[in-house]
Amino acid sequence: MDAETVVSKNFIEQIIEKDIAEGHCKVVKTRFPPEPNGYLHIGHAKSILLNYGLACEYNGKFNMRFDDTNPTKEKEEFVESIKADVNWLGADYEDRLFFASDYFDIMYEAAVKLIKKGKAYVCDLSPDEIREYRGTLSEPGKNSPYRDRSVEENLELFENMKNGMYEDGAKVLRAKIDMSSPNINMRDPIIYRVAHQSHHRQGDKWCIYPMYDFAHPIEDATEGITHSICTLEFEDHRPLYDWVVRELEYENPPKQIEFAKLYLTNVVTGKRYIKKLVEEKIVDGWDDPRLVSLAALRRRGFTPDSIRKFVELCGVSKANSSVDYGMLEYCIREDLKLKRPRVMAVLDPVKLIIDNYPEGQVEMLEVDNNLENPELGKRLVPFSRELLIEREDFMETPPSKYYRLYPGNEVRLMNAYFVKCTGCVKDDNGNITEIHCTYDPETKSGSGFTGRKVKGTIHWVSAGEALVVEARLYENIVDEEKGVYNSDGSLNLNPNSLTVIDKCYVEPSLKDAKPYDSFQFVRNGFFCVDYKDSSEGHPVFNRIVSLKSSFKLK
Ligand code: ATP
Ligand code: MG
Repeated sequence: MDAETVVSKNFIEQIIEKDIAEGHCKVVKTRFPPEPNGYLHIGHAKSILLNYGLACEYNGKFNMRFDDTNPTKEKEEFVESIKADVNWLGADYEDRLFFASDYFDIMYEAAVKLIKKGKAYVCDLSPDEIREYRGTLSEPGKNSPYRDRSVEENLELFENMKNGMYEDGAKVLRAKIDMSSPNINMRDPIIYRVAHQSHHRQGDKWCIYPMYDFAHPIEDATEGITHSICTLEFEDHRPLYDWVVRELEYENPPKQIEFAKLYLTNVVTGKRYIKKLVEEKIVDGWDDPRLVSLAALRRRGFTPDSIRKFVELCGVSKANSSVDYGMLEYCIREDLKLKRPRVMAVLDPVKLIIDNYPEGQVEMLEVDNNLENPELGKRLVPFSRELLIEREDFMETPPSKYYRLYPGNEVRLMNAYFVKCTGCVKDDNGNITEIHCTYDPETKSGSGFTGRKVKGTIHWVSAGEALVVEARLYENIVDEEKGVYNSDGSLNLNPNSLTVIDKCYVEPSLKDAKPYDSFQFVRNGFFCVDYKDSSEGHPVFNRIVSLKSSFKLK
């Protein structure tokens, strides 16, 4: 390995390589441990690809584990959606799919072990009292009056807890660590609580449930995870993580490593907020294309490759920061640019009539699917006397440097002929209803015509043959100019986040487009067929991204 390769390793790779070199770790094992209480978002993609990527890089193993120890919020719907998202991203966990709730027996035994070692006790303080006894950042806590119960009494009470003899909140099991620790997480944290609730997988088997800080290290250790990678907010919990695996005497205990969460500018990623938008029906479900849940990005037309590229560009760091949404857009443009056909679609149509073109004639023009990638082949596009062009591609009295159509000016119709504008027709209100022109048969694209040049090229579709489709344009759902929140704490929503164009005219070849197929619509952006609202022969197109941006990759 040369010096440069070493320098470019991120800090997690450096830790892992040191552990391997020093013989602490033979096979690297990582995991992705979501709580099935919502859909995954772009931030989770970072965690998935980081953990999966490390397992691949070091020839190790990657586990998919549902952290379903909290019975209140978890739903089967989320388990399925999370699996679909992880599969879509290509993070292959093979048969290594686990549920933390399957370890409830192991966790119970672990708690008993701590009691027997004198390291855990049953406490009868109320939740308020526990908080009061805990102290503050500047003041140490004080010991619970139940702290010195005998091992026998604790064993009996804990068993009673398990057997349903107490109400919710009446008793808890606490780790016996240090009420004067400067780290509040170490002040005798609760490790088990009574909760008379059914669990989505375990039914009514349990009425006590372990707390996250106790359960998580046990889950990791049980699966033989070597590097337990989590986000920064758990840094202060690491001493407790280490305490749990040490007191439970695991042989090769996992090591917790924290990295900074991925935040995107001006989008909502927090599950809580997305949930609110979904529940208040502000958006069309968890996969509304304006959201950045992975289901939404997929529906909108983002690809796994674009997400991987994005996560790679973001890098891994210890410092929280936000990434420009433009970078995600950059990644999808780069990904689709050469892979997808470029077709003509008119979003805001006006008729263009070629007066010297034979009436009733339809000419099939052979057109490259993607000029920059000949492998995509060619297709046929109908051309006729009556076309539709973008309204903005004609001006009666143009400003200087306007190179599109205006009376007397000649432009190229993309993939077809030169046309010269002869005038336009207006209705009683002065709206332009028709533009007229003449064409020069000598100037057909691909004919090698070199007689003269034109400065503008405009796209078009044949009015009689075009397919009418619905297209949807999106803006961020949160208003970036005015800030993410209103003064009352509610989200500041962008009223223009969705524009529906119910009559967008596209080349007839798009009739057979299937859900998730994507295309570049010349000048208008990349569009993808919506899987939910399209029907046979009637695709609905979601704009993934426009073609231009002010975002620059540094
Ligand atoms: P949220 O805060 O959005 O509700 P969460 O942290 O509660 O998410 P979990 O299901 O607990 O969601 O997360 C599963 C894994 O994904 C955890 O390891 C968590 O650290 C990681 N993760 C969550 N959000 C991000 C993010 N924005 N960037 C990177 N990793 C994340
Ligand atoms: Mg969480």
